[in-house]
Formats: sequence, structure tokens, C-alpha cells
Amino acid sequence: MDDRRKAVESFTGVKLEHAGNCTFDPIVAEKNVENMIGTTQVPLGFVGPIKVNGDHASGEFLVPLATTEGALVASVNRGASIISASGGAEAIIIKDEMTRAPVFRTQGVRDSKRVVDWVDQHMDEVRSAAEATTGHGKLVKVRAFASGRSLFLRFSYDTGDAMGMNMCTIATEAACRLIEEGTDIKLISVSGNMCVDKKPAAINFIDGRGKTVLADVRVPAELVGDKLHTTPEAMVETCYRKNLVGSGMSLSYGSNAHAANMLAALYIATGQDAAQVVEGSMVSTTCEPCDEGVYLSVRLPCLEVRTVGGGTRLPCQSEALSMMGCLGAGKAKKLAEIAAALVLAGELSTLAAQSAGELGKAHKALGR
Ligand code: NAP
Repeated sequence: MDDRRKAVESFTGVKLEHAGNCTFDPIVAEKNVENMIGTTQVPLGFVGPIKVNGDHASGEFLVPLATTEGALVASVNRGASIISASGGAEAIIIKDEMTRAPVFRTQGVRDSKRVVDWVDQHMDEVRSAAEATTGHGKLVKVRAFASGRSLFLRFSYDTGDAMGMNMCTIATEAACRLIEEGTDIKLISVSGNMCVDKKPAAINFIDGRGKTVLADVRVPAELVGDKLHTTPEAMVETCYRKNLVGSGMSLSYGSNAHAANMLAALYIATGQDAAQVVEGSMVSTTCEPCDEGVYLSVRLPCLEVRTVGGGTRLPCQSEALSMMGCLGAGKAKKLAEIAAALVLAGELSTLAAQSAGELGKAHKALGR
């Protein structure tokens, strides 16, 4: 690594003093990056404790966030303390399926139907071919989408504690070879953009990808007034006009204040695939009056998080996961519920700040 970095320094004339100052053996990252010349240090903060009443995450958690956006951690932390003071965030996972959708070329629409029928009739063999490639992945279903001579088969897998993109791709390739042999059609690409990985798409928003997680909280009116300096009515109106009308008019996927902020900082801190913030950001936030004061909820249709594989094996990232008791096997669902509560905290604080007219003030004080 040192020789490579020196070569880059010599070529560019830039001394990489900080990037080269790496605290771990570069061999640890050999499966995470090629041409490694050092590390990028992103400031790490934390929010919490945040109380989560999930099926897999139950208790109070300190959540690590890596960001360069001043005011973000302070704002989410304020939301976390309000959630905890309100009794905690309920969090549930309603679906857990990672997808890969190959595209095949057929002779036409009738031929596409023939292939779909063949896949239906040979589902046990298709499943065996896919699952033979992995000790953890389970094929849940295959859905067909056809147009002209293009046939897409959207494979959905339970990927355990892995995010699953390598796992699903390898398993789907094996299934595709069987389908090609059995039906005499041609696979054009194992990824046909109906998957949909790292691109905003309605199919993910509606059908989900990775974990689909819901979270909510009821915040007493006294807390809204004393700690958030606003009223339930003002928060409800801000959410309606901004998240619902504004997002509707701009045809946004999702209707939220800044869900991507919390997910990006959590993903970077914990070694998630940062590009999947694209689909992670399609969050729907709702806010309604309730007997206690104000009811707030988030729906995260595409939370593609993991606690094994990928960047989770890097030292800083595994320490960050350990802070929440989320490192390793059996922890991915726990991480997903904490992530949903985290997004709820960020949405709560920002919606309150905007309804109180305090957004600019906070950023001016903390971020400039
Ligand atoms: P991975 O990080 O490459 O490896 C994780 C592996 O850990 C699994 O495949 C599994 O092996 C094993 N494993 C051990 N304990 C497990 C447990 N409790 N639950 C689940 N798996 C367990 O796998 P990945 O999550 O499939 O892929 C993530 C990476 O894919 C990302 O980091 C990204 O870089 C990359 N990526 C790839 C594509 C692509 O198209 N190939 C697209 C986007 C991202 P077994 O399968 O043998 O059981």
C-alpha cells in the first residue's frame, strides 16, 4: 500500500499525509477495495440513548453516525431524546426479501409465456439450483414481467444477515443457466434493472427491497411545546404541506424530510453499501394529531442493511456495529429496527424545527 501511495504522490504532487495514516493492516480491506492507498476519515458521532420497542431490537441504544454535515447529529439526537421520553419507537419488519431480476430475450410474447409457465412448473429445480450456491440464501419467489421480446424474472431471496447482492447474483446466475437449458432462450443480463439496485424506482417503493420496516411514536403535547418549541398542529400542517403536497407535486419517490441523511451517516459508520441510500431514501413520513399530542410514523420500504459481509468486517465499522450489539450473525433485523427508529428521530426533529421556523437557525449555529 505504501509503495502505491508514494507512486500516487509522485504522479499528482500531493502529499497524502492523512489518507496514508491507516490504523489497521490493509490486508483486512483486500475484499473491499482495489488499488488501496489509505483510508478516508469521516468524523464519527453518536445519538442516543434512543429507546426502541422492536421485535428484534428492544432497549436503549447509542447509534453511531459518520457525517460531515454539522447539525445533523445534534438534530437527530434531539429527536432520539424526545422518542425515548415518549416511551420509545415501535418498530416492525413486515417484509425481508432481496431481489435480482435477470432479463432474457425470447421470440415474442407467446414465447415469454411459455418460459414463465416452464419456470412455474420447474420451481423446485430452479430453487435447488439457486440455493446450491449459498449456505444462507433462500429463494422466496420468482415474479415475471414481460414486454415484447424481453422477459424479466424478479428473484426474491431471504439473505439472512447479509445484504445479499453477491449472494443473490451468484444464486440467480445458477438458476438462469438451468432456465436457459430448459427453455432454449438467451439470458442477456443477470441484472435487468427490474431488481432495482442503486437506482430510484417505483417497483422498490411499492414492493420493497431488502427489509421493509415501519416505525412510529406518539409524542405528548407537553414535550412538543417544551422541548421542540412548536405545537402538534403546526407539525401536522408542516408534514402535510411539505411531505405530502410538496413531495406529490415534485413526484418524489417517498415523502419525507431528510431520511437519506440518517441512513447515509449510519451506512458509512457501519459498513453498509452506501450507494443503497438511493433506494433507502424512499421513505414515507406521516404525522397526525392523536390524544397524547402528535403521532409520527415512517415507512422504509428498502432498508438493505447487513451485519455480516461487505464493509462490516472493517475495524471501525465492526466497532460501530458492536456499539449497538449488532455485529455478526442473527443481528441484521435488530439493526434494521434501530435504523428505522433513527430515521423516525431525524424526521421528528427536522419536522419540528421547520414548523417552529428554526431550521436555518440551527444550521447557522452548528454547521457554519
Ligand atoms: P458478501 O458480503 O459477499 O458475503 C457475505 C457472505 O457471508 C454470504 O454470502 C454468506 O455465505 C456468508 N454468511 C455467513 N454468515 C451469514 C449469515 N448469518 N447470514 C447471511 N450470510 C452469511 O455477500 P453479500 O451480502 O451477498 O454481498 C454484499 C456485497 O455485494 C456488497 O458489499 C457489495 O460490495 C456487493 N455488491 C454486489 C453486487 C453484485 O451485483 N454482485 C451489487 C451490489 C453490491 P453463503 O452465501 O456461502 O452462505
